[in-house]
Amino acid sequence: MSKIKKVAVYSRKSRPDETDDMLRRQLGILIDMCVNNDWKFEVYSEVGSSQDINRPELNKMLAKVQNYEYDAIVITDQDRLSRTTGGFGQIKEILTNYGVQVVTTSKVFDYNTQEDDMMSDMMSVVAKQEYLNIKKRLVRGKRQSAKEGNWVGGKTPVGYSYDHKSKKLHINEHAPIIQRIFALYLSGKTSTDIERIFELEGILTPNGSKWKKARISVVLANPVYKGTVVYGKTKTSKTSKKPSGAPRQFKTDAIEQIVIENAHEPIVSIDDWEKTRDIRENRLTKPPSARIGKVIFTGLIRCSLCGRTHSFQRRKGKELRVTSCQTRIYAEDGTYTVCDNKGVKLEHFEKVFFSSFSQYVDKLEQYIEDVKGNMKVDEFNPADEKAILTATIKRIDQQIKKVQQGFLAEVYTEDEAQKEIKQLKAHRKHAETQLEQLDNKSKDDQVDKLQTVLDKLKDILTGTIEMETKEVNHLLTSLIDHVEYKRIGDHKAEIEIKIHYKG
Ligand SMILES: [Zn+2]
Repeated sequence: MSKIKKVAVYSRKSRPDETDDMLRRQLGILIDMCVNNDWKFEVYSEVGSSQDINRPELNKMLAKVQNYEYDAIVITDQDRLSRTTGGFGQIKEILTNYGVQVVTTSKVFDYNTQEDDMMSDMMSVVAKQEYLNIKKRLVRGKRQSAKEGNWVGGKTPVGYSYDHKSKKLHINEHAPIIQRIFALYLSGKTSTDIERIFELEGILTPNGSKWKKARISVVLANPVYKGTVVYGKTKTSKTSKKPSGAPRQFKTDAIEQIVIENAHEPIVSIDDWEKTRDIRENRLTKPPSARIGKVIFTGLIRCSLCGRTHSFQRRKGKELRVTSCQTRIYAEDGTYTVCDNKGVKLEHFEKVFFSSFSQYVDKLEQYIEDVKGNMKVDEFNPADEKAILTATIKRIDQQIKKVQQGFLAEVYTEDEAQKEIKQLKAHRKHAETQLEQLDNKSKDDQVDKLQTVLDKLKDILTGTIEMETKEVNHLLTSLIDHVEYKRIGDHKAEIEIKIHYKG
């Protein structure tokens, strides 16, 4: 309970026979609890009905939970949140995802410790609860700062420098490269063309690396160059559309969007930036499959009806397809039917797959950024701990030597000496184990590894991958156990997939 700083106090009738007076008394007890524990609190008190429907205060409170504003919710008992299992399940899921505990007058519930980690084992560099605490701290601070029009977008974009005093961006000597990228694009060049032009002219990024087309695309899409700071925005998928034709939206997290225009001096005019966006949106409708082209899903697609692994086929002169399921289901009389699961054009499968997979990649990216952002302020230094442990081991060795000398000088009996040495060796073993763990556990290394994986995944999504099909398959197989696949009906039937990540 020591981590709780700010809470939401929620009260409502949970039984029809409760009077307003009883409710007020309960509220009084909850507020006393907050004061005694030194928690900052905000009160949400539902007026009227004890029914689950129409509870505006609860919704208000949950919206703020999803803004990482609270560490806990304080209630008299759990059924204040919902009296139906379904309703309670939903609320519990939100609280779990945002690391919010539930404190009742008798018990503290931390749903997180009871739930499976939603993220894959890739994300266990820091424990989930620790991660959620980091995240809360960062998000709260950042949101406040963003509201003031400060730059909180993380990495400083090329063309700008970050001024620590004013917390704003200022144009620097690299701005002309950015202007040139936009000008070339507006003149009809593609990001691939620009990559080639820069390569010929020997123009490099400020870090001295090549201007890859993926990097150029990122520049072209960044509203920072028209002077706008956007924080907590929803992303529009570049690879997938809903059945209605609208691009699929996914959230970086359910944080309300903060957009501050004219936050700093623009490098590109608003007009040019918007023209660029229009061109990009028209060009980016191609799915990555068209660019990757080959089968990277070998062994990964599994029939959701019978569990058989799907393979691929290319009919003469036609496109690649995921095959129909061939499993035979025999009746007692020896006749059989074939599994109902139908095949589909690989291109369709890929569209749906990448739309879902890009959300995973987004989550991973957000996670790495958060962990990195926190590592800078963290005082955790493996080098220090290592030095301490190494010194401890050395000291124990000296002690062992002393006991041995003591035995030789007949200060100790053999029994005494052996007992003493055994103990010291146990200590030594313990320190050695800790040292080993420290070596394996250097957060930097693990984050670097994750970053490498992330970079590759992003290349896959943008279609700029420079890997063999086999390697892409290997990478996906290291993250994904299998993709559950289902398409039943005629040729128009939609496909359904569910990606099962490892861990
Ligand atoms: Zn099947």
